[in-house]
Amino acid sequence: MQCVGQPPSAGVHSGGPLCHTSLYDSSIKSSLREIYNRLFHSYGPQHWWPARTKTEVVVGAILTQNTAWSNVERAIQNLKRAKVLTWSALRDLPATELAELIRPSGTYEVKAKRLGSFVRYLWEDHNGSLRSMLNGDMETARERLLSIHGIGPETADAILLYAGNHPTFVVDAYTRRILRRHYLCDHRMSYEKVRELFHSALSPKTRLFNEYHALFVTVGKRHCRSRARCLGCPLEGMVHDPAL
Ligand code: SF4
Repeated sequence: MQCVGQPPSAGVHSGGPLCHTSLYDSSIKSSLREIYNRLFHSYGPQHWWPARTKTEVVVGAILTQNTAWSNVERAIQNLKRAKVLTWSALRDLPATELAELIRPSGTYEVKAKRLGSFVRYLWEDHNGSLRSMLNGDMETARERLLSIHGIGPETADAILLYAGNHPTFVVDAYTRRILRRHYLCDHRMSYEKVRELFHSALSPKTRLFNEYHALFVTVGKRHCRSRARCLGCPLEGMVHDPAL
């Protein structure tokens, strides 16, 4: 495991260098558990993903890249009103019309291309069946998603977790920021390394990963913004540096 720096002596970790040791591993494990317990105790179940159908989950996961969820909701409402939020309707919809409908989600032409690539792959390789596309071994399904133009690891993991019920951790900007400020990762760690941190420290359970990611989003929106508002944050009592 990568060495990620040393917190103050009063911190979760104590005594000795924080890399390649079982002490480090168990500290990470207990910190990730404590974070989860504190957040769950404060906020309770988050009932994610905020969508009615799996199609909506996938479309939302693609449209939410680099934009606020409220913008995605407006785009999804447009698709619903136009009665095209089904895989067959999306397949038959001209790209320009799709782009216009999802305009509220920002960079809509790029996102229309990405959504179009997903829909094309779904029909060409899985006859329009999301179940077939996401079924089976998780890493194989993940590779399939990552092979599609415009689907990066965060989007792939969101689709696998919330539409495929696979136990994969979704690492978003909030996750990285909170971990960094609590000395559990640094900016050099890749997406895959941060994901691995959760997979090796926690039991790979879909329900746990579903809730944990949603809780990170909640605390990120309420407290751990670009300028941290630590006062009253459920993680305030844990060692941290809001300036990181
Ligand atoms: S707001 Fe402060 S206490 Fe809360 S998660 Fe961010 S750094 Fe930690």
